[in-house]
Amino acid sequence: MHPVRRFSSALDAQLAAAELKANGIEATVAGSPLQMLGPYTGSATGTPHVVSIGNKADVERARQMIDAMQHREPDLGWESQAEPDLACLDPNLRIACPQCRYDLLGLGDEGTCPECGEAFDLLSLVVSQHGPEALADCYDPADEPTEGA
Ligand SMILES: [Zn+2]
Repeated sequence: MHPVRRFSSALDAQLAAAELKANGIEATVAGSPLQMLGPYTGSATGTPHVVSIGNKADVERARQMIDAMQHREPDLGWESQAEPDLACLDPNLRIACPQCRYDLLGLGDEGTCPECGEAFDLLSLVVSQHGPEALADCYDPADEPTEGA
């Protein structure tokens, strides 16, 4: 076996091994069988948890996979959400054309003002004229999954 990386935590090592397996590289964790997880996370013995693979030629690729896994962006919820749905804007909101004050609500997310021809981006106008809180209704609630409810 060829060591790829050592981890101080059994869980991290198992996650790394699982990532490699998912990418087609057979990986094992030395020093901490999976059944040791739980109350015995291994650190008490001071044993390093070394992820090893069978094929030396894959070591570099495996290290890159682990690096990529560790640097993967965590799911930030709000940040990763889709664009706000401007169709959910309060219909009483007034989005004025910055040029001529014509009411642009209902004319699409972007386009040109039918009065003066000024190009507009509805989203930025909503935020500049009403603040980001005006968009609150346009986002799906992040922590209330509707599936199966
Ligand atoms: Zn206009």
